[in-house]
Amino acid sequence: MDHEFIYEALPTRVVFGDGKLAALPAEIDKLGARRALVLSTSAQAGWAGQVAKVLGEKCVGIFSEAAMHTPVEVTEQAMQQVKDLAADCVVGLGGGSTIGLGKAIALRTGLPQIAVPTTYAGSEMTPILGQTEKGVKTTLRDALVLPKTVIYDVSLTLSLPPALSATSGLNAMAHAVEALYAQDRNPIVSLMAEEGIAALAQALPGVIADPQDRDARARAQYGTWLCGICLGSAGMALHHKLCHVLGGTFDLPHAETHAIMLPHTAAYNAPGAPEAMRRAARALKADSAAEGLWSLAGRIKAPRALKDIGMPESGIAKATELAMKNPYWNPRPLAEKDIEALIRRAWAGEAPQA
Ligand code: NAD
Repeated sequence: MDHEFIYEALPTRVVFGDGKLAALPAEIDKLGARRALVLSTSAQAGWAGQVAKVLGEKCVGIFSEAAMHTPVEVTEQAMQQVKDLAADCVVGLGGGSTIGLGKAIALRTGLPQIAVPTTYAGSEMTPILGQTEKGVKTTLRDALVLPKTVIYDVSLTLSLPPALSATSGLNAMAHAVEALYAQDRNPIVSLMAEEGIAALAQALPGVIADPQDRDARARAQYGTWLCGICLGSAGMALHHKLCHVLGGTFDLPHAETHAIMLPHTAAYNAPGAPEAMRRAARALKADSAAEGLWSLAGRIKAPRALKDIGMPESGIAKATELAMKNPYWNPRPLAEKDIEALIRRAWAGEAPQA
């Protein structure tokens, strides 16, 4: 174990359980709020309508235009509604895109937000916000954007399509894998990371086999919560850096990119973080973390090749160059030729190698 560390708990109230969406009105009361603006994507507008019904007169409006990577123009439209309706809290129901919009509003207004996540991305547990303006994405960390309350209701995840469940679950696991070897890791977050990886590894095959399996779904959501805390609490390294570079440069889908890269970055970092990777392997019940993640990705039919999600082969050199620029701290130093080989393997869909 590490003999020196700093641990700072993030002050979010978590309400977890099947049917807990019904607790939303009471949770709004607890925040001292009365006028909620409900947020969703356009695809989930119908759900936002149901939430409005649950809230009755506590809901003053719905904004259903949340979009990937929190475009500033969309936030400005939502801000107009916040002002026009004199909303005193926001409720974000959806995945990382919707929760990102709630965070962007909280940053600008200081209003409390309640997040009701319906994917496994984990944004609800972090004080991190990524925003896009004129095609440029910037990320900030601010206590103002951390949701005051998170409601995890498994019934809202039953409709998450198997393909998105698989990639979103691996996206969650990536937060925990990197937390295990983070420079600012600590014993509590490492416990959560190991438990989060184990819960998701156990749950995801069941979720894919039967998306209506409430037990598997609840276990996946429990793992998601723990992995979200990891992302909010520990610094991320090579894996997140590569995913940001690849997603930002080639406009690749978020969860799929994480799912493809994770076995490769775990293999790369194994020599630099043997204890962390031993714990990840134990959670995966595998001989090595990379092997366990690769085999899990195969079992849950996650994509394995960047070329299959839209990355051109000609982009490998560009991605390598960007990955080597302003690198995040990493447990194993970055060697350009090894990073290029890693990206090439991930592009082609080949098995990971250290
Ligand atoms: P998403 O929020 O974009 O959702 C993907 C699609 O799935 C949307 O159309 C959504 O409406 C739909 N969907 C969501 N839940 C569903 C359900 N239960 N049933 C059916 N359809 C459903 O995707 P995401 O992967 O959750 O989030 C990705 C975004 O979140 C990215 O912009 C990423 O940068 C951000 N993110 C931020 C953090 C952070 O800490 N700031 C963490 C993770 C992700």
